[in-house]
Amino acid sequence: MANKLRSKQQLEQLTQKAKRLGANASAIISSKEIQVKDKLAALCNGEYACPNYGLAASCPPNVEGPIEFRKWQAKSEYSITVKIELLTSVMFSNEQKGVMQLLHQIVAAIEQKAIEIGFKKSKAFAGGSCKKLFCDDQEKCCVVAENKPCRHIKFARPSMSGFGIDVTQLMKSSGWSCQKADNANSSEKDAISWVAGLIMLA
Ligand code: SF4
Repeated sequence: MANKLRSKQQLEQLTQKAKRLGANASAIISSKEIQVKDKLAALCNGEYACPNYGLAASCPPNVEGPIEFRKWQAKSEYSITVKIELLTSVMFSNEQKGVMQLLHQIVAAIEQKAIEIGFKKSKAFAGGSCKKLFCDDQEKCCVVAENKPCRHIKFARPSMSGFGIDVTQLMKSSGWSCQKADNANSSEKDAISWVAGLIMLA
């Protein structure tokens, strides 16, 4: 009982830290609730191929994908979700880059804190291509091109897309609304949109 309480407190500390670092919300969910779909992962190189496909070590085909994710998930009891809210007008502007960088920084910091407190195999996932976010001034990702360590290992984390993580379901499991404008032509430029990340504790 005392151990369970301690671990609940630790999980809550992780959510509080995420909020201190800039997340608008952070929740504890059962890792079983994360839904991983092969067809979502396939979208990265599907009919509409993502322009970032293959550019970085943290995007397909350079990530482990849904099969490995499900193995990690089977060993994880709890996960932490984080959400950053932003105006739709910001989401589809140059300012989006800073928000996505912050998302990576938050999930990476929570992952590291989780490792420190004993969840030694924790893994963090964010969104967007780390090549665009952190290495836009570099010709190539040095991990992919030269098998060197990541230049931004402290912050850059893989995108949830490459693992087929259903982000809409993640939002629902966290108790958050999953509605958001999905294109720059949205008539509601002042509507609130969001970006989300995940730290799977193990
Ligand atoms: S070196 Fe740059 S592009 Fe490659 S994984 Fe790290 S942040 Fe991403």
